[in-house]
Amino acid sequence: MSLRNDAKNKVYERQPRKCEVPVNEQGRYLKVSQYYGENVYNYHLSKSLSQEDKENLNQVINGKKTIDKPLAAKVANSVLEWAISKGATHFCHWFQPLTGATAEKHDAFLSFDNDRPIEALSASQLMQGEPDASSFPHGGSRATFEARGYTTWDLTSPIFIRESSNGKTLVIPTAFISYKGDALDTKTPLLRSDIKVGEQLIKFCHLAGETNVQRVYTTCGAEQEYFLIDKAFYFSRQDLVMTGRALMGSLTSRNQQLEDHYFGLIEDRVLAYMQEVEIELYKMGIPAKTRHNEVAPGQFELAPIFKDANTAADNNQMVMTVLRTVALKHDFVCLLHEKPFAGVNGSGKHLNWSMATDTGLNLLEPTQNPHENYRFLAVIATVVEAVFRHADVIRMGIASHGNDHRLGANEAPPSIMSVFLGDTLKKIMDAMIQSGAYTPETQRTLDIGAKQLANIFKDNTDRNRTSPFAFTGNKFEFRACGSSASIAYPLSILNAAIADVFAETNAFLEKELASGKTIDQALIAVTHKWYKNAHQIVFNGDGYSQDWVVEAEKRGLGNYRTSPEAIGVFKKTEKVKFLVEGGVFRQGELQTRANVMVERYIKCREIEFRTQESMVNKQILPCAISYKAQLSETVSKLKAAGADSSVEEGMLKRLSEVVKNLVTKKDALAAGYDKFHHSLNEDDFSVKIAKELMPICEDISKLCNQVEEIVPEDTWPLPKYYDMLFIR
Ligand code: ADP
Ligand code: MG
Repeated sequence: MSLRNDAKNKVYERQPRKCEVPVNEQGRYLKVSQYYGENVYNYHLSKSLSQEDKENLNQVINGKKTIDKPLAAKVANSVLEWAISKGATHFCHWFQPLTGATAEKHDAFLSFDNDRPIEALSASQLMQGEPDASSFPHGGSRATFEARGYTTWDLTSPIFIRESSNGKTLVIPTAFISYKGDALDTKTPLLRSDIKVGEQLIKFCHLAGETNVQRVYTTCGAEQEYFLIDKAFYFSRQDLVMTGRALMGSLTSRNQQLEDHYFGLIEDRVLAYMQEVEIELYKMGIPAKTRHNEVAPGQFELAPIFKDANTAADNNQMVMTVLRTVALKHDFVCLLHEKPFAGVNGSGKHLNWSMATDTGLNLLEPTQNPHENYRFLAVIATVVEAVFRHADVIRMGIASHGNDHRLGANEAPPSIMSVFLGDTLKKIMDAMIQSGAYTPETQRTLDIGAKQLANIFKDNTDRNRTSPFAFTGNKFEFRACGSSASIAYPLSILNAAIADVFAETNAFLEKELASGKTIDQALIAVTHKWYKNAHQIVFNGDGYSQDWVVEAEKRGLGNYRTSPEAIGVFKKTEKVKFLVEGGVFRQGELQTRANVMVERYIKCREIEFRTQESMVNKQILPCAISYKAQLSETVSKLKAAGADSSVEEGMLKRLSEVVKNLVTKKDALAAGYDKFHHSLNEDDFSVKIAKELMPICEDISKLCNQVEEIVPEDTWPLPKYYDMLFIR
């Protein structure tokens, strides 16, 4: 039996998996609120820490002081007590190297007091680890002799326990830095950026009259899209296993054009999966909120309730891990690749982003009368200026080989950065720069024409799914981030951009106030200044249209279609210097990141090319050639019998042509790769891959799809799109 049929037969037999749902002593399901966060360490509840210890810890977490060894020892003790009472046997420093994924090394609590086995966790084990940094991507930033790297405990992100089939592990979120203090991870720059943006925003709040504010931080809720396909199909396709995406596959006649999957009924097997994912997340204090079918068949989404950006970034890493691991228990594989299947929608991560104060303000909350809320308008104008000024760098922050298939295709936000403000807000802002008055619309409820229904308020911002950076009510939604990416990196760049412009906003306000203006006058003036300068990045229209590409060029907006081009922005010193001057990245770290990004791009593409070549040689060509043989035999027999063989000859001719083209293209790709690989430096090589080799790779896919269309159904060696997207 063929691999494909074998896989299908397995899938037909699958049943939804039952998991352990938390119950009380009577066996009734617990409310989520009863077990939410049960695996998160909470120092407030610690019995061994004194009130003074807890207050000190509070100050450390709020950045008021650094932790000393005696306090760390007490905390280590309290953490250990809690962890072993929960049944944990090991601890790990959990960090986020530049691979974009996470890394962890586990150590047992097991230790010896003379000969007696005990459990132990010392202050230094809690605070610092020393993984071998040379085995992580470092973009050539260090010579091997100084390849030491350190993980250091991040007190602002909670410690938690992760359960697995046969035990529990204490997870300590850490940053990963070099001996010289350079960030080797995505977390450190995010933490720095949050401090920098916080400093400017506190100042801004004070100038704007919010004098009680002591802390401002950025918030993020990351909507995570993903595909689920059955494990049996996944392991029958080496492209999915090696590269995370189908390198070939002919589209089914029905895919997403009926728009019936989005928000459709969630099938039981999938729902059972989502429920187990949520139970795991709730225990670890990750507030999963929404779940639904996405646009493409087999595509889904999970969104949590937002948190501070750093915790949100850690949580999102854990969300991706749980999505992947729980999927396997349900005989699914969760694909986080940005574009697993050509022809249907890809997956992104929408970063809902805002700024919050410790007094409970959301700085992007328009309130009932946004046109009179001058603080709000000044914040919007500052954000618009920041995205305008730093658009190219923000675009670079989401560059990856996977995302290239999405950005600019007719479904995801385009690779051109623009800002959507919605009609109301745009009218207010436009009225301001034209120094005209804005008259609010009075009709605020919608006439639905059916009195049985509750009246709904018309939102101040309608939806525009085509914009990469959209204002959605009381937050911005940065939609261009890739589904598999770490959100920490784009968030740190965005925060750096915001901090950069807020520093100028503050200086401007101070000057205006000193010259005798009222705060409202000053806020209006700064809004005017920024919006007048940056309004060409505001675009409320259809970001998918070709007209926008032309229009954007006229407006002078950057359009970096491929990752290598976007990564090239690193070389434009003028553009990236705010990252260094603002204290979010060090100069050397930028070079490191540029190198790592280029290197990853090349390696991932190389793996795709090699995998495709292997599939063509070992699966597609043998299949095509045996059908050719069968056809030619038929033709000979028909001819010998004096029967008409024109149809068979036509098919044979067509298949022969396709096969010939396929072999030619395959050879051209291999030759092109070798030539550029040997003659070019990495930067130029990556550009050649994107511009010259990728089109050949795509041609090869198309030719494989043509073979798939010609050969008999039962001889095709791979699970088809139909199998993967529709059979569950
Ligand atoms: P949508 O209609 O776009 O799905 P939701 O209200 O469901 O909008 O929110 C989507 C995400 O935005 C959720 O993760 C939510 O927690 C997050 N979010 C809401 N408010 C904020 C905010 N002020 N800052 C950051 N994220 C937010
Ligand atoms: Mg959304």
